[in-house]
Amino acid sequence: NLIIKINGLKKSYDNGKIKALNGMDLEVKKGEFVSIMGPSGSGKSTLLNMIGALDTADEGSIEVAGIDLMKTKKLNKFRSKEIGFVFQMHNLIPNLSVIENVQIPMFETKATSKEMHDRAFELLKSVDLEDKVDQKPTKLSGGERQRVAIARALVNRPSIILADEPTGALDSKTGEVILNLLKDLHLKENVTLVMVTHEPYVGNMAQRLVTVLDGKVQSDNPTP
Ligand code: ADP
Ligand code: ADP
Repeated sequence: NLIIKINGLKKSYDNGKIKALNGMDLEVKKGEFVSIMGPSGSGKSTLLNMIGALDTADEGSIEVAGIDLMKTKKLNKFRSKEIGFVFQMHNLIPNLSVIENVQIPMFETKATSKEMHDRAFELLKSVDLEDKVDQKPTKLSGGERQRVAIARALVNRPSIILADEPTGALDSKTGEVILNLLKDLHLKENVTLVMVTHEPYVGNMAQRLVTVLDGKVQSDNPTP
């Protein structure tokens, strides 16, 4: 029941001068909530980019949701079917309403407009924004915008959510609300959650904490 299997993964930049990943090994079980911590430049974002097939590795093996990412030619299909992204900056489209923003990933599917509306509304209800569905994102607070981004990440029922500093732009109280929401939704939606964070209290909200250093796993333990 492993959903992520990474072995000896390497990725360098600048003609090999920068080794962003240098023999990374990581296994994640289906439905797990794992946080990744480590100093700036240790390879956390690169690792998430590899799992989400935003970039390809140089060496080693990486299998995600049963797909060999070193071999497949269908990276776009893999990404839209299996992965939901939540970033520090939510990248909502300002001139679309909240519910339209959440529906965006569904335009790549065969869903009817009623199915798109119903699924987006259901998720916006789960994140407590049912009374803001027709607002523009510019009218919302930072925490509310991040809740919209979480709803959007889940809309196509991905098997994995990749969150890179999802609370980085929020004050700590709002951050905690967002984290609890992600935690609840990962159970409710039965999705695997891999989250990068700098903040120890955030990292410890996961079930398992992996620390990385110099492009490799340094420690890997259940959270207390
Ligand atoms: P972290 O997320 O832990 O801060 P990153 O994965 O962003 O670390 O970066 C790891 C190393 O790779 C850093 O030295 C960074 O500067 C470098 N790096 C990451 N992405 C690129 C890129 N697209 N081009 C050049 N260097 C990069
Ligand atoms: P983090 O907040 O995790 O440290 P960064 O700000 O280092 O993330 O990186 C943000 C994005 O920029 C990542 O997708 C990474 O691949 C890219 N990046 C990081 N370092 C470099 C670099 N030196 N040159 C080009 N792109 C980079």
